[in-house]
Amino acid sequence: MRSRDRRVALHKFWKVKAAMDHMQHRTIQRVETAAGGYDAVYGAGLLDDLAELLHARGLDGRAVLCTDSNVEPLHAKGIEAALERAGHRPLLWTMPAGEEHKNLGTVAKAYAWMAERGVERRDVVVAVGGGVVGDLSGFVAATYLRGLRLVQVATTLTAQVDSALGGKVGVDLPAGKNLVGAFHDPALVVGDATTLTTLPRREWRAGLAELLKHGLIYDKHLLDDLIAARPDMLDRDPSLIAALIARGAAVKAAVVRDDPREHGVRRILNYGHTLGHAVERTAGYGVVKHGEAVAWGMAAAARIGVLTKTCGAEFAPWQDDLLRDFGLLDRALLPPLRAADLIAATRLDKKTIGGRINWVLPVEAGSVVITSDVPDIVVEAAARWLSDGL
Ligand code: NAD
Repeated sequence: MRSRDRRVALHKFWKVKAAMDHMQHRTIQRVETAAGGYDAVYGAGLLDDLAELLHARGLDGRAVLCTDSNVEPLHAKGIEAALERAGHRPLLWTMPAGEEHKNLGTVAKAYAWMAERGVERRDVVVAVGGGVVGDLSGFVAATYLRGLRLVQVATTLTAQVDSALGGKVGVDLPAGKNLVGAFHDPALVVGDATTLTTLPRREWRAGLAELLKHGLIYDKHLLDDLIAARPDMLDRDPSLIAALIARGAAVKAAVVRDDPREHGVRRILNYGHTLGHAVERTAGYGVVKHGEAVAWGMAAAARIGVLTKTCGAEFAPWQDDLLRDFGLLDRALLPPLRAADLIAATRLDKKTIGGRINWVLPVEAGSVVITSDVPDIVVEAAARWLSDGL
């Protein structure tokens, strides 16, 4: 081979190798739905490639980037610039950060803003943020012009393993969380682990509760691997954690595939949520993070499981140690809670059916059971444990 041909061949080889390396840093999780499904793409450093990810799926309309005031300077501005470099003309709308803004007032502001800018049916809503931005912009996408295509660029761990997948979108009412909403599947989910490095430490730990939950309810191997990778998980090295995050998302994908409208098995995702929501509500929203509250709820569910014998007595202390190892179950972050208030709050849970609470209780690591057969006295014991005797 002549030296010029060798150079050309070498050049081609490196180009292909670079493309393959690039591909290897991505895990694509297919989420099957009745309408065909969508990809959830995980990796480190994906945001620069967003234009390509959108184009490959025919999402070529104007990108309407929706974000919040924290994520805008950290990630959304960068995405806007990357899309502009790729020849797009994105729009950028920013809501104030925080659950207290996930309401119909903010939705109305988004509608007015979109109307002023002439957003059309072929445009694509790209939610860039955590679960609050994803739920609210997803609801806007579901309803504006009777439905726009939606892309979820999830920037919290909670959003990457949970809220961005599954198509549930919505907002809160004064009467309760997530009371208004729709099912609106995204056309694409992007989980870039690099974005997680800017998360406040408490938000990161709260997200770990949701990831551990996916192992606890469904996937013992994921749980074992998370335990083995604990130092990497606590350090959040993007290239080391992206694949584990994708596996956490795979649990949600499998569960929603089997039960898209939450009539049955999807309810296992509510593990830790009944008393967890009660902790969140009783402490006052925002005082305890959602994921922290879910960790407390899982610990309480394990106590109920032990008392009703869905699991062995050793399960509750084992799970407590696991959660503590990942920085959860920190009593110092829990305000004083009265057991009676916690019990009253469980009755407001929107997941009750005919007044009966569906409890998700552990069987063993990787497996849970759903039952409404839990005596009040057992719930009281778990609530007293949470309230630390108050
Ligand atoms: P969040 O969206 O409020 O984000 C948490 C905080 O982190 C916010 O202050 C946000 O501005 C900030 N933030 C987000 N990404 C960041 C980043 N990369 N760097 C720095 N800061 C960042 O909260 P969340 O925990 O992601 O989501 C909770 C919401 O998700 C709740 O409203 C809950 O109801 C909803 N949720 C929905 C589903 C669903 O299926 N739709 C499932 C679970 C939770």
